[in-house]
Amino acid sequence: MLCYSLSYKFYKIFSMEYKAYNLSNFRDIPQLEELPEKTKRTIEVVGTVLPFKVSNYVIDELIDWGNYENDPFFILNFPQKEMLSEAHYNLIDSLIDKGPKSTALKHAVEDIRLSLNPNPAGQQYNVPEFEGEPLNGIQHKYNETMLFFPSQGQTCHAYCTFCFRWPQFALNEFKFAMKEADLMVRYLKAHPEISDVLITGGDPAIMKTKFFEYYFNALIDANITHLKTIRIGTKALSYWPYRFTTDDDADDLLRLFEKTIKSGIHVSIMAHFNHYRALETDAVQEAIRRIRSTGAQIRTQSPILKHINDSGEIWAKMWRKQVDLGLVPYYMFIARDTGAQEYFAVDLETAYNTYNDAYNQVSGICRTVRGPSMSCDPGKLHIIGITQVRGEKVFALRFIQARNPQWVNQIFFAKYRPDAYWLSDLEPAFNDREFFFINELNEMRLSQHDLCHTEGVH
Ligand SMILES: *Cc1c(COP(=O)(O)O)cnc(C)c1O
Repeated sequence: MLCYSLSYKFYKIFSMEYKAYNLSNFRDIPQLEELPEKTKRTIEVVGTVLPFKVSNYVIDELIDWGNYENDPFFILNFPQKEMLSEAHYNLIDSLIDKGPKSTALKHAVEDIRLSLNPNPAGQQYNVPEFEGEPLNGIQHKYNETMLFFPSQGQTCHAYCTFCFRWPQFALNEFKFAMKEADLMVRYLKAHPEISDVLITGGDPAIMKTKFFEYYFNALIDANITHLKTIRIGTKALSYWPYRFTTDDDADDLLRLFEKTIKSGIHVSIMAHFNHYRALETDAVQEAIRRIRSTGAQIRTQSPILKHINDSGEIWAKMWRKQVDLGLVPYYMFIARDTGAQEYFAVDLETAYNTYNDAYNQVSGICRTVRGPSMSCDPGKLHIIGITQVRGEKVFALRFIQARNPQWVNQIFFAKYRPDAYWLSDLEPAFNDREFFFINELNEMRLSQHDLCHTEGVH
């Protein structure tokens, strides 16, 4: 018995073969056999509009199937009925039996997707121009940090149902992708203000190590003295920790981190963890141990989401667990205004109160975290308080990052509203006409207008 359980554990940590399920094969998931047909139908209807994909690790190790309806990982990975409006749901439900080739179904799906704000926060304004051409595959919004979207890393091991990049999986023309490391290096050399390259996606950890080697080696060999840190934004620790343990090229990836760090460039994994339970498996803890042994750091971030983690208790527990494992809490985000946002949306006041509730119960070591923060067009907007000024109840806000670095850290105020979910719901307090950054933001948009049009991104 002991022998069996040991070898079972060994098997779980040391060799799980990746398998993904999506709309076409989810009915093969053994755990789903027990579920009512109604639930499967819902997955099919909503999954026809919002892409979904779930790994066998999530299915076998994270979801509590005994309580799947309330399970955060089930909700995070399987489409839920309320993610579509009732009208949209009923429309797809009525068309779906005509089969995937039906043009009526295709058109309905397309229309609904476009109605869900598929490209939020003006991402098209972030694509820079270089040597007269728009650079697909790079976004450069904040001075110090360049985002790089390697074309091989534009999918994920499992999709989050709240993801703001969901259109990349559903609509090919929204893919920001660039093949050439060469272009990235030339862009970096022309921009001495950049200290950080953030490799993102999709999930870049989906890429084979040989591509990481290609990009990292190009950066190392280019000897760019102002490049200090390469960050990798990934959910692999939550959804496929074997990427860093037993996958064929896991060891090579860790060796690459070591080499990069030896060359004088920090490596930081920007890891998404939505719930403390994703930190509890043997597989993830082994992956964390191995990554940290290379000298790479792991910083963590997550949006605050209804049905998943909208309680201070969950966040406090998550930050403590992260710090226990040697991770650095970094951001609490507010869910983007896209896709299934309405299902997950937490109003700004609740987000702020949840953050405070969690922050108040943890030690200073956990308080490296900042939030709740909205990644909106002008910048990363931090809700720092709800307070009274001159008898008026207000939100106090500041930019953590901004299109114009001069805006960062300036405190400003918006009228309090209990039903505010996003910047677009906010108005200046004290009868001010506009927020202080609006004119300048509009000018920036105008000057980038032509570039966007050549891009064809809307
Ligand atoms: C958050 C973010 C960054 C990184 O900002 P840091 O404050 O350095 O963490 C860079 N680019 C974009 C578009 C971002 O949203």
